[in-house]
Amino acid sequence: MNQEIMNEIMEKIRQYDRILIFRHFRPDGDAIGSTKGLQAILRATYPEKEILLQNNDSSDYLAFLGPEDAIIAEEKYADALAIVLDTGTADRVSNQKFTLCKEVVKIDHHIDKNPFGDCSWVEDQRSSTCEMIVKFYDTFKDELKLTKEAATYLYTGMVTDSGRFRFNSVSGDTMRYAGILLDQKLDTDVLFANLYLEDFDYLKFKAYIYKKMKLTENGVAYLFVDKAMQEKFGLSSESASATVSSMDSIRGSICWLAFIESQDEEDKIRVRLRSRFMPINHLAEAHHGGGHAFASGATVFSRKEMRQLIKEADACVKEYKENHEGWL
Ligand code: AMP
Repeated sequence: MNQEIMNEIMEKIRQYDRILIFRHFRPDGDAIGSTKGLQAILRATYPEKEILLQNNDSSDYLAFLGPEDAIIAEEKYADALAIVLDTGTADRVSNQKFTLCKEVVKIDHHIDKNPFGDCSWVEDQRSSTCEMIVKFYDTFKDELKLTKEAATYLYTGMVTDSGRFRFNSVSGDTMRYAGILLDQKLDTDVLFANLYLEDFDYLKFKAYIYKKMKLTENGVAYLFVDKAMQEKFGLSSESASATVSSMDSIRGSICWLAFIESQDEEDKIRVRLRSRFMPINHLAEAHHGGGHAFASGATVFSRKEMRQLIKEADACVKEYKENHEGWL
């Protein structure tokens, strides 16, 4: 069935002279990798077409991948094809003008709670949207051209969204598609250095996080990155958010939460939820959020709601541990 949707998407790509590519706001490696990767494939294949990334925000952490395109005049959207990548719901698209395009194609690996687009290809078991773009390339490889540049972007998304090929969403396909990218001889030393080296000061901050994080009775690790902490360490919202990964390897803690207090909106706290063995997307959905089974995002609007979410997570972990074996 997905073959038919891929054929339909390929047909639309052939048809349009102008293709605008969109992604979710607050981009991560998969959002940037998949959009820049698809753009590089389409530009190499169809040099005569206008293929542009149209997004309103950027990422400091991923700035090494290079800039995106300037926003073009609104009138130029009317006869364009929009391809929205790595974005589960329409309200999360960075540039809301995507709706002005003649047709909208959605390609994504998030759970499809609120479908959108004239044509939608969603495979929520895939480890990344980049994996789907490589699948798309592989399906039409007689026509599409993969360059080393495209492979580098796509590999970035595959590596980051799979926790360096560690998450349980990684399948045989993930590795086979990653292999297609590695065949392009990309420089993984430089890529991994750009992605994972940490500043000395950030390591000092990590030491502070380890002191501050807490554990509930049943093993939910959590950290509240309040405004004072962000100011004290001069954290950008990106580095404040990255603290969630510092809690990902605690034995017995199968769920961990980072709460990031908003700098400019009173009483708004972003929540990043992560887990292993036990899905947590339903918890995120109960607090204005959603996402993947083991990696979701939400928002709470008071410290009281934050404490409530921690309690709910603790109860879920208790229930899970009582009824399942084999967790660590
Ligand atoms: P985050 O911790 O914000 O990076 O979110 C983890 C995953 O959940 C990402 O893939 C997000 O795209 C997704 N996500 C975060 N917030 C929401 C939301 N409000 N609705 C749906 N998906 C979300």
